Amino acid sequence: MGAGVLLGVAVSLAAGGDAWEPQRERMVAEQIAGRDVTDGAVLRAMRRVPRHLFVPERARAEAYGDFPLPISHGQTISQPYIVAYMTQLLRLKPGAKTLEVGTGSGYQAAVLAEVTRTNVYSIEIVEPLAKTASERLKQLGYGQVVVKHGDGYLGWPEHAPFDAIIVTAGAAHVPPPLIGQLKRGGRMVIPVGGAWTVQSLVIIEKLPDGTVKKRDDLPVRFVPLTGKGQNRE
Ligand code: SAM
Repeated sequence: MGAGVLLGVAVSLAAGGDAWEPQRERMVAEQIAGRDVTDGAVLRAMRRVPRHLFVPERARAEAYGDFPLPISHGQTISQPYIVAYMTQLLRLKPGAKTLEVGTGSGYQAAVLAEVTRTNVYSIEIVEPLAKTASERLKQLGYGQVVVKHGDGYLGWPEHAPFDAIIVTAGAAHVPPPLIGQLKRGGRMVIPVGGAWTVQSLVIIEKLPDGTVKKRDDLPVRFVPLTGKGQNRE
């Protein structure tokens, strides 16, 4: 079978219209728009990305539930609401260059790609997860997501500066390299706090004069950011 045929199938899956569409609609209505997510581009992305294809096959029936799910290697795909809420906090415009730290399944990266309609750079420290997510994203038609295996604490200097940075693992502190790689006028969203405890979702804005403003938002619970910079390995 040619790659073109495979891609054709995948693109139509990514564009919605599959048997799971009613579940996605319900997820958006009840868990996302039904709470406080109002950004139309984010809601549209959540309606389109086929979340059931980002979870292990045995967990498909639960893919649109209001909770995170285990993927593998002790990691998780975040709760749909948190994915939507964090994406909304980034205030993305089409064309925004975005960095994600913690690719995991690739689901959040696909949502970012739907909203920005341009390249998304995503870093994953667990090599098999990086490989699987990269292949999955390509098959589903999200070829504009560029996944690299590495320590996201260090960011991705070759593609910096970024309009937006999202960290999807709980950090002990905000990595200084990520602040350095945020564009003036850009926003970063990152859970900060202890490992395996409640963390605070921190919103960081780099103002046009380069000043950095931080504020705490929601209490959240994420798997820990690992890697050398966090002194957790
Ligand atoms: N965004 C993911 C998704 O949509 O499936 C969920 C991310 S999961 C909650 C956190 C991920 O961060 C894990 O896959 C973990 O391996 C990864 N991670 C932890 N520390 C990291 C680091 N220093 N650099 C890159 N990835 C890291």
